[in-house]
Amino acid sequence: MLRVENLVKVYPSGKKALRGCTLRVEGHEVLFIIGPSGSGKSTFIRCINRLVEPTEGQVFLDEVELTHLNRARLRRQRRFMGMIFQEYNLVERLTVMENVLSGRLGYVTFMQAITRRFPQSDIDEAFRLLERVGLGGLENQRADALSGGQRQRVGIARALIQHPKILLVDEPTSSLDPKTSRSIMRLIAELSKEHQLPAIINIHDVSLAQAFADRIVGCCWRVPCSSWDSAI
Ligand code: ADP
Repeated sequence: MLRVENLVKVYPSGKKALRGCTLRVEGHEVLFIIGPSGSGKSTFIRCINRLVEPTEGQVFLDEVELTHLNRARLRRQRRFMGMIFQEYNLVERLTVMENVLSGRLGYVTFMQAITRRFPQSDIDEAFRLLERVGLGGLENQRADALSGGQRQRVGIARALIQHPKILLVDEPTSSLDPKTSRSIMRLIAELSKEHQLPAIINIHDVSLAQAFADRIVGCCWRVPCSSWDSAI
């Protein structure tokens, strides 16, 4: 379960991007955050795993408070937050399999990590996940040979192999055509249920949110985020 209490973010420029956001997600709920560009959606998601440091407020994953963890403890907790990015964040010169296995880096020893020698159980799981996301047979392709939709499927498999407790998904379809966007969103929603994982998904496309959400909250820079209740 993820619980966010009164999250505030003021950037060094003085820009107040979050004004006291409070939110809770649990079970396998698929929660969409919709709002115009610049309304703070990305900042919110990134404050959860502290890719952006929040200025005030608290974030709890299960009962662990993330907001005050030191770097080493935060790194351990980040394993439990599978992040799916708008621009995929793949290593382009690596293969599909290597990109997926990089999701296990937080679990293997330092030597295994630098030599990229993963346990057979991780490799077997990567094969299974790639089959599930529709990339069976493409394990040895380089990431830079894939289409946008295929890259996002690699990103999804990489997030799942972390064995996360939650998926954090930042505008996953904004670089994709409408048909691919729909299939990617369907896949994320299905996998959330299959893996019993809550997902928080930022998106500006209201119709996609309406098609796949269990709950939708609206993010608007004009009102404090504590009024993020309004289901559509
Ligand atoms: P969204 O994801 O809804 O498009 P963002 O979270 O990216 O919104 O941005 C929210 C606000 O914070 C915007 O006004 C944006 O310009 C500002 N912002 C985002 N990142 C930074 C940064 N690193 N430094 C200063 N301002 C930022």
